[in-house]
Amino acid sequence: MNRFLTRLGLSLASVLALAGASPAQERPARALLEAAAEAMGGLDRIRNLDNIVLTGFGQRYNTNGNLSPHPNSPPKWVAVADAERSFDLRNKRALNQERQNRMFPFASAAGHSWSRSNTLQTGRAMLDHPLPALLEALAPETTLGPVRIEDGLSVVEFTIQGGVTLWMALDPKTNLPAWVRWIAGDSQLGDVTHTAYFTGYLPFDGVRLPVGLMHKIDWRDQITFMFQVDSYRVNVPNLPPFPQGAQGAGGGGFGGGAAPLAAVAKIAEGVWDVRVGRNGGPVIEFEDHLVIFEPVGSEAQFFARLDAANALVPGKQVTAVIVTHHHSDHAAAIRGAVARGLTIIAERGNEELFQEFVARPAVNFPDALARNPRRMVFRPVDDVLVLEDRRQRLEIYHVVDHLHMSNAVFAYLPKERIMMEGDLSDVSWDWHWWAGALAANIKRYGVDPAINVPVHGSPLGIKETLSRMESQVEAAQAFCKQNASAGIYFFGCPVQYNPSGHVRDR
Ligand SMILES: [Zn+2]
Repeated sequence: MNRFLTRLGLSLASVLALAGASPAQERPARALLEAAAEAMGGLDRIRNLDNIVLTGFGQRYNTNGNLSPHPNSPPKWVAVADAERSFDLRNKRALNQERQNRMFPFASAAGHSWSRSNTLQTGRAMLDHPLPALLEALAPETTLGPVRIEDGLSVVEFTIQGGVTLWMALDPKTNLPAWVRWIAGDSQLGDVTHTAYFTGYLPFDGVRLPVGLMHKIDWRDQITFMFQVDSYRVNVPNLPPFPQGAQGAGGGGFGGGAAPLAAVAKIAEGVWDVRVGRNGGPVIEFEDHLVIFEPVGSEAQFFARLDAANALVPGKQVTAVIVTHHHSDHAAAIRGAVARGLTIIAERGNEELFQEFVARPAVNFPDALARNPRRMVFRPVDDVLVLEDRRQRLEIYHVVDHLHMSNAVFAYLPKERIMMEGDLSDVSWDWHWWAGALAANIKRYGVDPAINVPVHGSPLGIKETLSRMESQVEAAQAFCKQNASAGIYFFGCPVQYNPSGHVRDR
């Protein structure tokens, strides 16, 4: 049922609402769209517009970067300021420019730089606004589908050139567009239905346009974008220069491109580092099977690592994956891991979220799990879980004192003195906000690593790892201090950690 509804872009609630609607309320799609054009300023007027430019500010959802995997965890947000979006209606393209800053401590300076992005949008990517969406729905090359009623709104289905299908809801009281919906693929969530809501219509040069823009997805009813328009200009004489090469023209699929290559490096007897680019983790040999660390990256990247791991020891296959935490880059290929029959080992609090990932349909953008549906086998970690047989002993511990995420694990091979972790260290980070966590966990669990294998980076001596952190935490402290002297207080400032202990010296 769920699958079928998603294919139609419907939610269960909307179908229940539909059950009460009378078919007599339905009008043909074209008549509804033409009435909407009339309400927005007249069909001729809006068809002859050259461009519109909006400015404003808002926030974007940092997808699955929440503090914890719990449904009621506080989400993380990215601030959007000095935004300007230019719709070049004549040439069916838009330019989105905005300054972003993460409203949480971020390890890369670019995440707090407020530098202005320049994104060219064509096709579906520019149709999350009612004006270009309505013009596209009315374009001769667009195919109109059936009309249905949802929550008292008339919903028109339309398929644009290139085959992407969208839905537009029209308010019968005003005839104005209430929302536009589309479906995109996601590595963690499968098919994701996005709805862009339009509210607060006001006239600008005789064209009615919404000043409230908000996006939601059909996972936890999560808001992913909220934006307040603070100006609209109609038919601006000079638009800013547009960059070359379209982005986001497709339907929002994922993967594609060249097949990723996994690099294998032996780090001890029966232990290999297997990564794609700078992301990956160890493969550990047990008596009759292998265990892999972290389903990081895309499904294709994880499968490249998995295939390389399965070729390491004749007769031994990977049967389990250890997941450090739920963030979108780390727990990226949970669905792929389940499709390949791997047991998922993670801190107990992740089970419900991972179950949500696995249960979601991927009909429009099928992945390995859609082609090979399986149930998830989850092995929880509380404080510690030990995997041990006659050949190997691997200890898995709940990460403490790391407030980037609450429900994380790291792993340790006591015989080889190898530690493996996600986001406790990364030598490429400009700033380290949680630099005490590595030392604090080593101390708490009495482990004695010689080598550390981070998910991001490559295997490195523990001493080098800890000393690199000292300059990263100093850089973060300097950033906070410099801003504080100008009266600016970034999220995460002042830094609460130092590399040797877990709480900073006050
Ligand atoms: Zn990470």
